[in-house]
Amino acid sequence: MKPLLIQDGHIIDPSRGIDEIGSLLITEGKIAWLGKGEAAPPQPHFATLHAQGLIVCPGFIDLHCHLRQPGFEEKETIATGSRAAARGGFTTICCMPNTKPPLDNHFTINYVNSLALSQGVVRVLPIGCISKERKGEELAPMPELVSSGVIAFSDDGSPVMNTDLMCHALEHTRKLGLPLIDHCEDTVLSDGGVMNEGTISSQLGLKGIPAAAEEIMVARDLSLAHLTGARLHIAHVSTAGSVDLIRRAKDKGVKVTAEVTPHHLTLTEEKVIGYNTNAKVNPPLRTEQDIQALIQGLKENIIDAIATDHAPHTEAEKLVEFALVPFGISGLETALGSLLTLVHNGQLTLTTLISKLTHQPAKIIGDKYGKLGSLEIGAPADVTIFDPDMEWIVDTKAFASKGKNTPLAGSTLKGKVIATIVQGKLVYKDDSITVKES
Ligand SMILES: [Zn+2]
Repeated sequence: MKPLLIQDGHIIDPSRGIDEIGSLLITEGKIAWLGKGEAAPPQPHFATLHAQGLIVCPGFIDLHCHLRQPGFEEKETIATGSRAAARGGFTTICCMPNTKPPLDNHFTINYVNSLALSQGVVRVLPIGCISKERKGEELAPMPELVSSGVIAFSDDGSPVMNTDLMCHALEHTRKLGLPLIDHCEDTVLSDGGVMNEGTISSQLGLKGIPAAAEEIMVARDLSLAHLTGARLHIAHVSTAGSVDLIRRAKDKGVKVTAEVTPHHLTLTEEKVIGYNTNAKVNPPLRTEQDIQALIQGLKENIIDAIATDHAPHTEAEKLVEFALVPFGISGLETALGSLLTLVHNGQLTLTTLISKLTHQPAKIIGDKYGKLGSLEIGAPADVTIFDPDMEWIVDTKAFASKGKNTPLAGSTLKGKVIATIVQGKLVYKDDSITVKES
């Protein structure tokens, strides 16, 4: 692989407090040199990418996506999902185990790992099931799943309703040293719900999912994390009440981290008006007040990371009656563009945003795969380059993802990924730039 010089970009690496115009040299898949003004160390043959006016930062890390393989290849595959990730600036993605068969055994996890190596273009890290077949009845063979390389455990999509089983799961994950990623939903309370419970659900005549359905489980599992000392990671936080609960738990020293999705930060339940099935997502889009609490949570580090919960479905599945449509938004390719709205509006700094997409999720994964989320010398050369001001129209036909299900279709976003580099290899490049060989 030829060395690559990324020249004169605006380098932002929150892990090291770097925010300056400079150049970055990549050799042998690793970050080799970072300099400001001075010439890069000479290389016999190298490629140059001119990054004037562009942001150069560590590659984005997505702690939560659904790649659907094995079992639901009509929705997504590791090949298409990882290409969607590359287009979205993500260099590492963690895939949820709700496949068919689910990732509750080493055979299936090894299959995902081998597909990731042969067909993936970004680093794909699997998450193992908490319970066998995700049924919430009996624990999965967790140590076996750790040997297969899972980075966390989750029954995402299905909460673990049995409190005793959840308590045992946390005792095991504590011993194994991995986080448990928690889909918080009291399914008795949310049963039959299809959108946020409130005035709009009443007007539309749709059954609502109250904020309490999430918050009850957040409270229960924070209490269990306190009891067991385990690492709990709350997935897709969507309500102001959950942010408050996590804040109090962090104050008490509970080992909890949390993530929020781009859609819960930027879209409200109003998107559902007109029975827009592409806005049907679980947890549901909430209110402006929830959005403000989630943004505040990011600023105060109550919420550690932004994760897409990329959930592709086929067009046919989203064309049926609202109540019957599966939950989910295809989110990898629009994540940056929609999140930059918060920066353009002055609600979040660019550095905070990048930190929530890079070194903060990296801390949750740990150092097993090298120093992720950082441009430190010697770290894997995972780099994302983007233009924060370039406007583009979301055209789902151009998506690499098979999932065209997004409420953002046809809207204009400001901010676009220009290049994505994984371990020194250019895996995505926008047509607006050329890489010069010398
Ligand atoms: Zn979930």
